[in-house]
Amino acid sequence: MVQGEHFPQSSAPFSTCRNGKRPVVIAGPCSAESRDQVLDTARLIQAQPGVSFLRAGLWKPRTRPNSFEGRGTEALPWLVEAQRETGLKAMTEVATPEHVEAVLKAGLNAMWVGARTTVSPFAVQALADALKGVDAMVLVKNPMHGDLKLWMGAIERLHTSVHGEVGALHRGFSSYGSHEFRNAPMWEIPIALRAEMPEVPLLCDPSHIAGRPELIQDVAQRAMNLGMEGLMLESHVDPTCALSDAEQQITPAQLHQLLASLEIPTTGPESHQDRDALEGLRLQIDSVDEQLMRLLSRRMELAKDIGVLKHRNRWSLLSLARWRDIIASRTAWGSDLGLNPEFLEKILGSVHEESIRVQGDEANQRRAQQDSKGA
Ligand code: PEP
Ligand code: MN
Repeated sequence: MVQGEHFPQSSAPFSTCRNGKRPVVIAGPCSAESRDQVLDTARLIQAQPGVSFLRAGLWKPRTRPNSFEGRGTEALPWLVEAQRETGLKAMTEVATPEHVEAVLKAGLNAMWVGARTTVSPFAVQALADALKGVDAMVLVKNPMHGDLKLWMGAIERLHTSVHGEVGALHRGFSSYGSHEFRNAPMWEIPIALRAEMPEVPLLCDPSHIAGRPELIQDVAQRAMNLGMEGLMLESHVDPTCALSDAEQQITPAQLHQLLASLEIPTTGPESHQDRDALEGLRLQIDSVDEQLMRLLSRRMELAKDIGVLKHRNRWSLLSLARWRDIIASRTAWGSDLGLNPEFLEKILGSVHEESIRVQGDEANQRRAQQDSKGA
C-alpha cells in the first residue's frame, strides 16, 4: 500500500501549488465503467509522476437520455480500491445530497460539482447542506454559461458550509452551434473570478474545454501561464472504447507526455535586471491605459453631443451605414498597426454599444426636461 505517496499531505492541497510550483493534477476517465477499467487506468496514471488525484464520474449528467448514465453507487468500491492501491486520492462528481452521502459513507472525501449543477442555486445549497461541517475537498465547476456571479455564489455556498478546501474548476462555457472548442474557454471569466476571489484555488479542466485531444495541451499551457493551481484531465486506458466523452479522452501515456512538456512559469523574473525591466514596462502600460481612459471619456463626450443633435432633429439613434463604416475603417487602421481583427471587432462593438447608450440617455434627459417645462 502506498497511500499518501502521491497525494499532497496538506489539508489544502490545491492552494499549496501556488507560486510557480508544479500544478495539482487530477486525472482519470470521464466515467467509471468497470472495475478493471478503473484499476487499469489508475495504475497507469499512478506510474507517472505529478498526478495526485484520480477522477471518475459515477453519476453522469448526460445531455440526452438513453446514453450511458454511469454505474452509480455500484462503482464506489472500485474508486476506494484504486485509491487504496495506488495512493491517488479518488474523487467523483456529486449532484445530489444522496450522492454526497454515498461518497462519504464509502470513506471518500474529495468531489466536484458539475457545470450543470452549478447553474442551480437550489441544487448547490442542497449539496452545501449535505456537506455541512464535513472535512471534504470540493471543486466547483463553472456554470454552463458565462455567469461569473452564479459561479461565485456556488463557491460561497459551499465555502460557508464545508469544513475543508473549496476550489474553482474552469471547464469552459457552452454555446449553440459547433465551434473550435467544445466549450469556449472565455479566459476573461476565470481571470475575473481570480480577481474577485483571490484566495480560492483555481484549476482548469482542459479536456472539457478542448473536446478533442489536439487542443488539450494548448489549453493546459494557457491555464499554467495564467497561474492556475492545477489541472483536471480525462484519461482512459483505451479512449476508443470509452462509454462517455470518447472523443476527448487521452491515454495515460499521452497524459504523461503532456505533463512532461508543460512549462510552469515562475511568479517573478529571476534577475534584478529583469525585475527593473518589468517595472519599466508596467509603468509604460499604466501611462498608456491612462491615455486610453482619457480618449474613451472624450469619445463619450462627443457621443453625448451627437445625442443632442439626434434628439433635436428626431434622427434615429442607430445608423447602420455609419456603424459598418466605423467597423471597416477602424479594423483596417488597427490591422495596419498589427492588431488582431477579432479583438478590434469586440472592442469596437463595446465602444459603439456604450456610445449608443450614452446618446440614448442624453436624448431621454432632454425629453424629460421638455416634458417638465410643458407640464
Ligand atoms: C465531467 O467532468 O465528466 C463532466 C460531466 O463535466 P462538466 O460538468 O464539466 O460537463
Ligand atoms: Mn467527461
